[in-house]
Amino acid sequence: MSHSSDADENVGADSDTDGAPDRGAVVYQLADACTVDTLEQGEYYHATVNGVVEYGVFVDVSADVSGLVHDSELQGDYDVGDELVVELIEVREDGDLAFAERDPEDYTTESVAAGADVTVGELPDHVGEVVTLEGVVVQIKQTGGPTLFHVADGEAVVPAAAFESAGVRAYPNVEVDQVVRVTGEVEHRQEALQLEVDDLSRLRGAAADEVREDYEERLTAAAEPPEVEPLVEWEAFEPIHEELREVARHLRRAALVNRPIRMRHHADGDGMCASVPLQTALERFIDDSHEDTQASRHLLRRLPSKAPFYEMEDVTRDLNFALEDRERHGQKLPLLCMLDNGSTEEDIPAYRAMAQYDVPIVVVDHHHPDPDAVEPLLDAHVNPYLHDEDYRITTGMMCVELARLVDPDITDEVRHIPAVAGLADRSKAEAMDDYLDLAAEAGYEEADLRDVGEALDYAAHWLRYNDGNGFVNDLLDVGTDADRHEDLVAFMSSRAERDVERQLDDALPHVEHERLDNDAHLCRLDVDEHAHRFIYPAPGKTTGKVHDRKVEETGDPVITIGYGPDFAVLRSDGVRLDIPEMVTELTEEFPGAGVSGGGHLVVGSIKFVPGKRAEVLDALVERMADAELDEELRSTLVRDD
Ligand code: MN
Repeated sequence: MSHSSDADENVGADSDTDGAPDRGAVVYQLADACTVDTLEQGEYYHATVNGVVEYGVFVDVSADVSGLVHDSELQGDYDVGDELVVELIEVREDGDLAFAERDPEDYTTESVAAGADVTVGELPDHVGEVVTLEGVVVQIKQTGGPTLFHVADGEAVVPAAAFESAGVRAYPNVEVDQVVRVTGEVEHRQEALQLEVDDLSRLRGAAADEVREDYEERLTAAAEPPEVEPLVEWEAFEPIHEELREVARHLRRAALVNRPIRMRHHADGDGMCASVPLQTALERFIDDSHEDTQASRHLLRRLPSKAPFYEMEDVTRDLNFALEDRERHGQKLPLLCMLDNGSTEEDIPAYRAMAQYDVPIVVVDHHHPDPDAVEPLLDAHVNPYLHDEDYRITTGMMCVELARLVDPDITDEVRHIPAVAGLADRSKAEAMDDYLDLAAEAGYEEADLRDVGEALDYAAHWLRYNDGNGFVNDLLDVGTDADRHEDLVAFMSSRAERDVERQLDDALPHVEHERLDNDAHLCRLDVDEHAHRFIYPAPGKTTGKVHDRKVEETGDPVITIGYGPDFAVLRSDGVRLDIPEMVTELTEEFPGAGVSGGGHLVVGSIKFVPGKRAEVLDALVERMADAELDEELRSTLVRDD
């Protein structure tokens, strides 16, 4: 309980000269939520008559605390609602309070606020009661009715509804990020709990500092991820796991302070294996830490990115959403979480757009990174290349561990996901066997997992810019209780296969073949002329499928180029290409050709202006003929179909 002196008020006679003992007395004005513990025998209180009986009057000194002023202790006649000053003269054994009327001639009134008597987590035990809560305002949403102040205590968040009049902002001086003390009744609203505000006051000075310090301490502890061992023992993964803890910390903290999380992931199998488990874990973490049952719907959004980098189109949409949500729902600007995407120089323009606003960015990716370029713009960056590892540690493998650091209870539901991710991205990680074993424990054969990967790719193609929530969960068998997983995957993967066959039937006869100086096979396909457009698979994947066929057919090193009017998709097997370096060289060699692109040793894409296509492709092929063969870069295509 704290006695504040900021509401001092002098009342009563001012010409007392006889040195009466009442001079300078303090009369306490108790806040509604003050309990009997606030009172001390011998102290004075402002009281209101709540009942008149034969032997005296009953008075309230707070919403919770009342007692009797016996006739013998009364100086006047009172009716219900009258106010008087009383002294607490006795606390009887049965807890009843006995007061005596006092009439101090000169006194000071001190307001007594009820200190926090509950934390957000304790609210379910106090439904129907008036409680006091201290914390930080993390969101203020004006509805058509009350104003909703979302108050956080570091461990959880509760909405507190204050009603001024319909659609009018209550407590207009209170702003987001201020420390407040809220008194109100805990009530059920639909499934959720909220506080019906009696009083909401901003704390200042030392009182505010104390609450904020507690809050920060609790927040730091609650944001700390649990100690979870990675699913498989894998030395290469250990430094990465340590860094994933930092990302988990950022995500958990964002959830606890009502900062929305915007997830952007590469729209492919690995990207979905990365984002869907994390999304599910975060939804549960948010729901566990928020009394508002709609919180995860408002605070978390997952969206695919078609390009293998964060495009201006995506970032402008994301910013537009974020600013709208801030305007309409009083939301903070989001934390951006990039998955299977986001490590490269191509992401910089979008990041710089974000940097105009207060938007923290965390990245988990396994594409060849440009750390010097991106890291100044990031709050956390996890990428296996930063630990002398590479692409074989897929984002799905990393993010299943990240999801478990957000909500360890998700473990049993996601054991099969790293294997799906590894197969989808053709990982040759030594841990693949362990991941396949884990998936087998969960009832998945390798062929099933490949089908899931195919089905995901197929779904990603048709979902385009949509998240496919629910549908993708059913495909992955994560965070869904539906029983349709098997049938759905069988259906989608067989459609995918059929569509690939149709595309290849028409494309393969047009593949131009030659033998390069380094003895590698070069296969070229004009995907614009000889592949169907707007169906599955799109040009990039069509090139990949053609490539796989040629690798199988020849058993030798193969490079495949699938080109359109202004782009080329590159795939290599057994030839060391270093695509980023080729792009740099071609950019210099052909000014005005608009060469850009990226990738790594065996996969990549290049863009150029249509008028320079022939020259750029010729130069590209020259370099490929000079490239080194490398047995290490041979894929092991063991398809059972
Ligand atoms: Mn990937």
